[in-house]
Amino acid sequence: MTDFPVVESVPALRARLKDFRNKGEKIALVPTMGALHDGHLSLVQEARRHAERVVVTIFVNPAQFGPSEDFAKYPRTLPSDLEKLASVQADLCFAPTMEAVYPPGFSTRVEVDGPARADLEDRFRPTHFCGVATVVAKLLNQAQADVAVFGEKDYQQLLVIQRLARDLDIATEILGAPTLREADGLAMSSRNVYLSKAERAAAPALYAALNEAARLIGAGEAIEATLARASAALGEAGFLPDYIEARHAKTLARIAGRRDGPIRLLAAARLGATRLIDNLAVTHEA
Ligand code: AMP
Repeated sequence: MTDFPVVESVPALRARLKDFRNKGEKIALVPTMGALHDGHLSLVQEARRHAERVVVTIFVNPAQFGPSEDFAKYPRTLPSDLEKLASVQADLCFAPTMEAVYPPGFSTRVEVDGPARADLEDRFRPTHFCGVATVVAKLLNQAQADVAVFGEKDYQQLLVIQRLARDLDIATEILGAPTLREADGLAMSSRNVYLSKAERAAAPALYAALNEAARLIGAGEAIEATLARASAALGEAGFLPDYIEARHAKTLARIAGRRDGPIRLLAAARLGATRLIDNLAVTHEA
């Protein structure tokens, strides 16, 4: 057991944060759903570059799961999460109770448009970003940190949260951080534990397909034909692709050609019962 500090209520969180602020220390927030892996820990390290104190939130938010999704079986590993947070010298874990986030009578939701309606994740998870935006708005208000760090792994989510903070005048600066990958390219994810041995062996095909498509599009190949081949490659590897698309990296608007960029490739695909997402920038070759 670790004695890493955890608070479970908003008043307790604010009391700790007040101590930090009274010492003139900047605060960074790293919101997560726990089941921490090295990708999450890389966000803590990025956060540390911007603030003296790093607060990691752990809350499995029911509002962002669809009715047929994995809320009930989502991995919950608080003791080992706290050990990991101690190992990277985070300062505090905020693991609010369900009541602290959704008190009796809770009646407010944050409706998001723009990047949240880009016809990517939202096509397959129509209530997801409202759930994310509502909980993230709450966490940002609860902590009022100087910065908050989110992963590019969930690229559409990052843009939704940046838009949310701008639109609601939330003073916390929203920073993105790169995706940490396993040695074979698979993006680290708490959901990777669901993969069978055979699925885990096939899973790097998602990154491989994105990587190859990004290389070809960067070298001038036609976008639609390249993505169609990438989708076929995913199918051959055993995935059922939901989408693999090229979008404007800042707005997620559809693009007709390379000159409309900067381009981000975004994909989601199912491997057995597990749904994986990933994305990659297209960098232009000379
Ligand atoms: P989650 O716990 O999956 O909701 O993720 C919490 C935060 O960690 C989000 O900002 C994610 O984008 C980020 N994240 C998840 N996986 C990775 C990864 N492999 N590399 C970097 N950040 C990640």
